[in-house]
Amino acid sequence: MLIDRFGRRVTYLRLSVTDRCDFRCVYCMAEDMTFLPRAQVLSIEEMARIARVFVELGVRKIRLTGGEPLVRRGLVDLASQLGNLAGLDELCMTTNGGRLAEFASSLAAAGVKRINVSLDSLDEDRFRQLTRTGQLAQVLAGIETARAAGFQRIKLNAVILRGRNDDEVSDLVRFALERRLDISFIEEMPLGVISEHSRHEAFCSSEEVRGLLAPAFPLEPIADDSGGPSRYYRVPGHESRIGFISPHSENFCAACNRVRLTAEGRLLLCLGNEHSVDLRAVVRAHPEDDAPLRRAIVEAMTVKPERHHFDLQSEPQILRFMNATGG
Ligand code: SAM
Ligand code: SF4
Repeated sequence: MLIDRFGRRVTYLRLSVTDRCDFRCVYCMAEDMTFLPRAQVLSIEEMARIARVFVELGVRKIRLTGGEPLVRRGLVDLASQLGNLAGLDELCMTTNGGRLAEFASSLAAAGVKRINVSLDSLDEDRFRQLTRTGQLAQVLAGIETARAAGFQRIKLNAVILRGRNDDEVSDLVRFALERRLDISFIEEMPLGVISEHSRHEAFCSSEEVRGLLAPAFPLEPIADDSGGPSRYYRVPGHESRIGFISPHSENFCAACNRVRLTAEGRLLLCLGNEHSVDLRAVVRAHPEDDAPLRRAIVEAMTVKPERHHFDLQSEPQILRFMNATGG
């Protein structure tokens, strides 16, 4: 029902429940950040309403993201409202894991089926450097609690930066295999202006990561499709999937099935472009009538761009940071 100009069907909504976060990952944020005033952020009720209309229009998968979803008050309530939506096949969440030990079982009870946890390093000091404020022990405890809570597949996400954590890729894979977790390696994207490192110099392609893994892990490509941009491999004898998200080196836009709703209700049609539609204005102007919202979402499909163009050499074209985008 939601089909764009290029014939792509939109079935996946990434819902950013907040732009705030308790970490300050060096690739995602600047050290000093200004967050949205609360009045500009959608309420839990507004998010639930917009999500329900997306599902009525054919969306089958929703991912709660941010910012850090677990710092948003009312998140479990939102998850249980979405978990009960008829027609939604999959409710998932991406988290930094810092508060997962506290929330994992309520999220599972609310109907969250799958969880992605970001984990860029297994070394405490380095983890602190990369996240600026994160504590590795809390994230590892969160992963263990999530394993015990019975999520279908837990996936780790690791952004790999040259000279920072590229020497850890084998350790991260070993960590995942031993716990039967999936893991995806992500190429850093130039979203927002950062000064902590040069995105160009830190760039580490998926191909390089596969090369670093090759001596220890023979990777066999597999055809699994999780509905996202990861390309998957397996290590013989293990269940875990090893994924690569390669926005630079292996463009995946032709198969794009997703849109993003920012915490302030801006429907972003593409991660790497600014085309968007203000759904907050529509829900606030029509609190009782869903028809204008439905129309705005359907019409938004006509402005979904064909693809992103990332250029690491020049200044970022996209000034919003990943936390504001809903990564
Ligand atoms: N706070 C949660 C977390 O960290 O998992 C959810 C939001 S975060 C923006 C979602 C994912 O985007 C994380 O896996 C993070 O590593 C990734 N990410 C953030 N900034 C990025 C960037 N500039 N390029 C590539 N991935 C990025
Ligand atoms: Fe926070 Fe996630 Fe961004 Fe890290 S990647 S600063 S945890 S939103």
